[in-house]
Amino acid sequence: MSNETLLEVTDLKKYFPIKRGLLAKTVGHVKAVNGVTFSIKRGETLGLVGESGCGKTTVGRSILRLVEPTSGSVKFEGREVTTMEGSDMRTLRREMQIIFQDPYSSLNPRITVGGMLSEIIKFHKLRSSDEAVQQRVKELLDVVGLRPEYARRYPHEFSGGQRQRIGIARALSVEPKFIVCDEPVSALDVSIQSQVINLLEDLQKEFELTYLFIAHDLSVVEHIADRVAVMYLGEIVEIADAGELYSNPKHPYTRALLSAVPHPDPRYKPHRIVLSGDVPSPARLPDGCYFHPRCPQVMPQCKMVHPELGDDGTGHVTRCLLYPESTPSAVAAGSRPIQIQTS
Ligand code: SF4
Repeated sequence: MSNETLLEVTDLKKYFPIKRGLLAKTVGHVKAVNGVTFSIKRGETLGLVGESGCGKTTVGRSILRLVEPTSGSVKFEGREVTTMEGSDMRTLRREMQIIFQDPYSSLNPRITVGGMLSEIIKFHKLRSSDEAVQQRVKELLDVVGLRPEYARRYPHEFSGGQRQRIGIARALSVEPKFIVCDEPVSALDVSIQSQVINLLEDLQKEFELTYLFIAHDLSVVEHIADRVAVMYLGEIVEIADAGELYSNPKHPYTRALLSAVPHPDPRYKPHRIVLSGDVPSPARLPDGCYFHPRCPQVMPQCKMVHPELGDDGTGHVTRCLLYPESTPSAVAAGSRPIQIQTS
């Protein structure tokens, strides 16, 4: 991993309008992504984790502009992505790719795997002759661990793990620098998950790739992520180096997610933190800390004050009023000082 920032996301928001009535009047917004900020270094893997509906997939798609962000900035190698158009955008589409959760629905059932890969290679003019295109298809299949003769098969002739390998080959076919891995192993059997994760790790080293790895479960990103960001209701609530986050989780939500991760030693029985209640609707966000209706450590001020994302000085960033760095400065300096408990 280098020290150079490849991707910089600042205050990214994606609001979906709620329309009602005959005139489809906008009566509110679903705040799917609500001010997300992070950066990824070249060669790094950032794990983005949270329950389904927390906005993590929308973050990935907004970065690639598969959905248009409502506001905020996405810079890729210093270039602003959100306002990019024409040939710049076409070049960017090659440099930033996505691997989808459900490999089957993202593959065209009527085209052979070889046909699909050669179409992409030809469209982007990555090889000049038919022979070179076919050679490249073979190389791509080989690199993801599939036999060259599989090029003649259709998607339905493959298993789930093989289809995900095809999805990876498709992403690699345009020689990208950055890949959004959108829950790439969630639909696979546990026995196949580690094979696909190992493959992604090997490919990262071989092709110097940078990943945003989206998952709903902290155990999936544990081995692949260099840093992990945890999302809740459209916001990041904690970011830290993977080792630090797993050994010293600070946010009560992260602690609850971690308590559900199976331990390799079956004799180890972690204290399971079961969260009460459902995730509130992103169309009607709670006042104060968005996590307060479910937080086992909720304090009176959590219902009024929205915590900021605060760095403890080591790069471990948390959004929780249990920590002074998350207390909004106006509150900390104002006439109503809040009592911080450090339970
Ligand atoms: Fe829990 Fe309060 Fe921290 Fe929110 S701010 S996570 S409610 S302790």
